[in-house]
Amino acid sequence: MLGYLLGRAGIDVVVLEKHADFFRDFRGDTVHPSTLQVMDELGLIEGFLKLPHQELQKLDGMFGGTSVRIADLSRLRVKYPFIAFMPQWDFLNFLRESGKHFTSLKVLMSTEATDLIRHGDNIAGVRAQSPDGPIDIEADLTVACDGRHSTVRERAGLKVEEIGAPMDVLWFRAGRRQDENENVFARVEPGKMMVTFDRGDYWQCAYVIAKGQYDAVRARGLPALLDDVVRMAPVLKSGIAEVKSFDDVKLLTVAINRLTRWTRPGLLCIGDAAHAMSPVGGVGVNLAVQDAVATANLLAAKLAQGCPPEFELDAVRRRREFPVRVTQRMQVIAQNNIITVALKSGNQPLTVPLPVRLITAMPFLQGITARLVGLGVRPEHVHSPLRNRSVATPVG
Ligand SMILES: Cc1cc2nc3c(=O)[nH]c(=O)nc-3n(C[C@H](O)[C@H](O)[C@H](O)COP(=O)(O)OP(=O)(O)OC[C@H]3O[C@@H](n4cnc5c(N)ncnc54)[C@H](O)[C@@H]3O)c2cc1C
Repeated sequence: MLGYLLGRAGIDVVVLEKHADFFRDFRGDTVHPSTLQVMDELGLIEGFLKLPHQELQKLDGMFGGTSVRIADLSRLRVKYPFIAFMPQWDFLNFLRESGKHFTSLKVLMSTEATDLIRHGDNIAGVRAQSPDGPIDIEADLTVACDGRHSTVRERAGLKVEEIGAPMDVLWFRAGRRQDENENVFARVEPGKMMVTFDRGDYWQCAYVIAKGQYDAVRARGLPALLDDVVRMAPVLKSGIAEVKSFDDVKLLTVAINRLTRWTRPGLLCIGDAAHAMSPVGGVGVNLAVQDAVATANLLAAKLAQGCPPEFELDAVRRRREFPVRVTQRMQVIAQNNIITVALKSGNQPLTVPLPVRLITAMPFLQGITARLVGLGVRPEHVHSPLRNRSVATPVG
C-alpha cells in the first residue's frame, strides 16, 4: 500500500517481496471499512469489490453453546459498513496490478532484503538476494514493512517490547459444498476455540491452541484433532476429509509486540515490523494499511526533496502509536478474558463473560464494538499528493 501511495505521488519507490508470488496463506483475510474507505479515496473500490469476496456485517459467535453477537457493522454510518472477506493474495495482486501504471513504482518479487547499507550513522538502502544474485539498492529512505519477523528492524538493532499472546493458531482448509452455509464466525467451547472463513469452494479454518501446545496436539494424533474440529463446527463434517495429514495443517505463531523507537536516520518501520498484532478482531492488516496511509500523508511531499531528518520520520510513530496501543490493549483484554479463560477451562462448562453478555443484550453496544473493530482509533484518510493516475485493473 505504501509503495502504491508513493508511486501515486510520483516518488521513485522499489518494493521488495521475498516470495515469487502472493499466493500463499497470509494471515488475514479481513478488509475492514477503514481500508475500504481508503480504497474508495484512491478510486480503486469499484474494481476491488468486483473480486470474489464475502461481506459480513454481523459478527456472531457460539460461546459454550450460547449464541452471541459481538459487533454489528450495519450500525456504522460509513460508505462501506461491512467486512470484506477476501484472500490476502487477491488484495495484494490487485494493488500490484493497479500500481503498474505508475512508472516510478517497481515491485521486485523473489527479492529478499538481507542486510542494510549504511553510510556512517545513516541507513542508505538494503542489500538483497535477487534471482540474479545479490544486489544493493540505495535509497534515501528505507521502510521496513517485512512483518513480525522483520529482518530490517533486526539489522537496524531496534528493540522489540514483547507483550505476549497466550495462543497459536492451526491453519487449514476443509472442502465446502455450495449448499453449506453458516453464519457463525467464531466458536468458543471449554478448552477450544475456532474461527471459520467462507472462501467460496472451501472453508478456511483457524483452530486456536494454547501457546506451546503444538507438539501435544500432534501427539494426540490427527483424528483426535479433526474430531474436535467437527464437534465444534458440524458444517465441516463432509469437507474435513481434505485434511489428510499434519502437512495440511500449518502452525501460525501469534505475537503482540511493538517497537519503542520506529526509526533510525534513513529508516522507518511500519505495520507488523513496528507492532505485531494478534488475530483478535482481525485488525492487523487494516492497521498496517493505516500506517501506510499515515506515512504517505506525512512524508510523501517531503521525500521529493530527499530523506527528511529522523525527527520528521518519527512523526509516523507519533501519529500511529496511540491507535496501536489502544488496539493492542483491546486484544490483550480479549486474550485474558475470553481466550485464556476458554483454553484453560478444561472440560468445565463455560459461562459467557459479562462484557460479551452485555454486548449481546444491548444492540447499541454492538455499534461501538463495530466501530472499534471496523474503523479503529483515529482512522486515516488519503491526503498524499496525486501526481500519477492509475487505472484499477481487476485481477483474480
Ligand atoms: C494467525 C494469525 C491470523 C491473523 N488474522 C488476521 C485477520 O484475519 N485479519 C487481519 O487484519 N489481521 C490478521 N492477523 C494480523 C496480520 O497478519 C498482520 O497484522 C498483518 O499481516 C501485518 O501486515 P504487514 O504488511 O505489516 O506484514 P505481513 O503481512 O507479514 O507482510 C510482510 C511481507 O514482507 C515479506 N517479507 C518478509 N521478510 C522479507 C524480506 N527480508 N525481504 C523481502 N520481503 C520480505 C513477506 O513475505 C510478506 O509479504 C493475523 C495474525 C496471525 C498471527
